[in-house]
Amino acid sequence: MNGTAARAATLTTALCVGAMAGDVHAAGYTETEYPIILAHGLSGFDALLGVVEYWPGIAGALEKDGAEVFVTEVSQFNDTAVRGQQLLEQVEEVIALTGADKVNLVGHSHGGLDSRWVAAQRPELVASVTTVGSPNQGAELATVLRDILVEDSFSESVLAGLAGGLGSLLALLSGTSNPQDAVGALDALSGSGMAEFNAAYPQGLPTTWCGQGDPVVDGVYYFSWTGTRSVTNFFDISDAMFALTSLVYSEDNDGVVGQCSAHLGTVIRDDYKQNHLDEVNQLFGLVHWWSVNPKTLYRQHANRLKNLGL
Ligand code: CA
Repeated sequence: MNGTAARAATLTTALCVGAMAGDVHAAGYTETEYPIILAHGLSGFDALLGVVEYWPGIAGALEKDGAEVFVTEVSQFNDTAVRGQQLLEQVEEVIALTGADKVNLVGHSHGGLDSRWVAAQRPELVASVTTVGSPNQGAELATVLRDILVEDSFSESVLAGLAGGLGSLLALLSGTSNPQDAVGALDALSGSGMAEFNAAYPQGLPTTWCGQGDPVVDGVYYFSWTGTRSVTNFFDISDAMFALTSLVYSEDNDGVVGQCSAHLGTVIRDDYKQNHLDEVNQLFGLVHWWSVNPKTLYRQHANRLKNLGL
């Protein structure tokens, strides 16, 4: 334990005396045994905002009551093995830096798949994997976008039907330095790409469609949650995009990932009133006003990990 963590532990002991049981504001509430790593998804956000801002307010909400939190950065658009290797190197850095034996990986969207890859390769370094809005069984939207990006298979009828939402996403994708990486990323996230990935890395996957997976595999705890609302906040410009992209799906979805595709390990819940960006408190905290706040979910999960000794 490093100096900062040791100081935090002392402070926690002192403050916990007066804390009510179950009080989510209690000191030590998020004080996990192992550091928490937040692993981002497929996104152009880094150019605009930086990786910490991918998770606005979330790292701070976790740190406030004791968690040690690290935010990693991998290639925005690439396949899972490339991103996973980059994440693994940062996991090793966090372990070297903190002296911890393992880490808790919490990944949003593609970041959840990167986390699964790391846990499959090096289970001894991973206490838990939690996927939030991750396309564990693939995302139909990725298949549609990939086909449009690849000029030869340009689908005019699909584009006409979904012009607004796909236009925004394509602008995001085409802003990458190497568009081929975007195609690679979308290949990885498509149904066929994920079937291949899952055959190689089945840890924590449900064995029946929309079921739960094994809670613990190779000593690694697996969890997941997701939202299933595309439109949640009138003032968030990204909601218009999700209103359109959600039409690609025949099942409930968060605008990018289907409800059942998000299942992995212990399913904490699969129908929060959140769209794909609400799941990481975007844009800028514009989420559903009357539903549970995304930051609260991350805090509750840290407490869940803590209570499991993770
Ligand atoms: Ca939002």
